[in-house]
Amino acid sequence: MKSKTGPGWKDRIVLGVKKWLGMKVILCDSCKWNWRGACRNSARPNATWCPEYEKRG
Ligand code: SF4
Repeated sequence: MKSKTGPGWKDRIVLGVKKWLGMKVILCDSCKWNWRGACRNSARPNATWCPEYEKRG
């Protein structure tokens, strides 16, 4: 027997995860150290937190 809330719950979870991932701000995208040689953080280019981040300006 199908419940009313059953169908679609997986889709909602996937959507929620995607939304959560999309809300993660990748610092490297706007960081002036975002090039090989300047950045010493191994998390580049996908760091969401970085002590050496500096806004490119
Ligand atoms: S210094 Fe940090 S924020 Fe900047 S590119 Fe490297 S890892 Fe990314």
